[in-house]
Amino acid sequence: MDQTDKNTMTGRVIREYECRNCGHTDWEDDGVALWKVLHDAREEDEAEAAAQAATNAAPEAAAPVPNPQTSLWQRLAGLLRGKC
Ligand SMILES: [Zn+2]
Repeated sequence: MDQTDKNTMTGRVIREYECRNCGHTDWEDDGVALWKVLHDAREEDEAEAAAQAATNAAPEAAAPVPNPQTSLWQRLAGLLRGKC
């Protein structure tokens, strides 16, 4: 059996098995890929930042966005611990 991991465009990892002797192939769904989790978390942060920027859109108040990197890693750590 040969085994390959595939990251699909939908963000799920498909683990594929192929038998060299008879050519039989099988696969299993290995769940959501890590890049997808990171991607979604980043998009959420960007959306929040954009919403906040729109809310605080006073001409003279161009305040910097509160460190989005921190909330991303806090969220990822939370996901890995199994609580969203
Ligand atoms: Zn076989």
